[in-house]
Amino acid sequence: MKKLNIAIDGYAGCGKSTLAKDLARSLGFTFVDTGALYRGITYAVLDAEVSIDATAVEAFLKQAQLRLDFHSDDNQLLLNGKDIEEVIRTDARIADHVSPVAAIPAVRDYLDGAQKAFVRQGGIVMEGRDIGTVVMPDADLKVFVTASIEERVNRRFKQLQDSGKVITREEVAKNLLDRDAKDAGREVAPLRKAADAIALDTSQFDRVQQLEVCLALVRPYLDPASYFRFMS
Ligand code: C5P
Repeated sequence: MKKLNIAIDGYAGCGKSTLAKDLARSLGFTFVDTGALYRGITYAVLDAEVSIDATAVEAFLKQAQLRLDFHSDDNQLLLNGKDIEEVIRTDARIADHVSPVAAIPAVRDYLDGAQKAFVRQGGIVMEGRDIGTVVMPDADLKVFVTASIEERVNRRFKQLQDSGKVITREEVAKNLLDRDAKDAGREVAPLRKAADAIALDTSQFDRVQQLEVCLALVRPYLDPASYFRFMS
């Protein structure tokens, strides 16, 4: 199969990760969750009790020798070999601090090399905020996912409840909206739809329907001849 690079961006809690993961699995591509990398750096910064300002975080990254890897079997995030998947997903401190950390230019530079290495490898579905605009401006297909705030809160609330977290819907809504505002308002690599991205509102779609829409979008790129023959 042709090794396409697919960019999936969008707001917090839109179900981008599940969609990107499902799409990568269906196509036999590599799934790259860039939000996990930003969460991983945030975990390391908080764990080392570094204050969240650009100079302190930059100095920390220069000396810390962090190694972030995805476990090959289940894609769990490892920091220097330690599995931090659960904590980066469920700890409210990470959710509250990740956007300010991700807005620091040195943090984005730090993750740039790892992300570009995936892009060179090809055959990836990469998900984040600036994938279609900054990390993979030449992606074969770009999708910008949106969903109503009610739906996003429902989905994230259920996820956190299922993992045993005690949290209110109001807290979930506040975190999602707060991160969106910070991610879209920052100077470096702000969250925004690339001009050539297809907007996909998933509010009314379940998991399978979202995947089906994306597979339909991908198919012409894989074998255009079989789709457009009737037009010639
Ligand atoms: O995707 P997820 O919600 O896990 O991302 C967590 C945070 O990481 C985002 O709110 C954003 O601040 C940051 N992020 C980013 N650029 C990306 C992916 C994530 O700034 N490409």
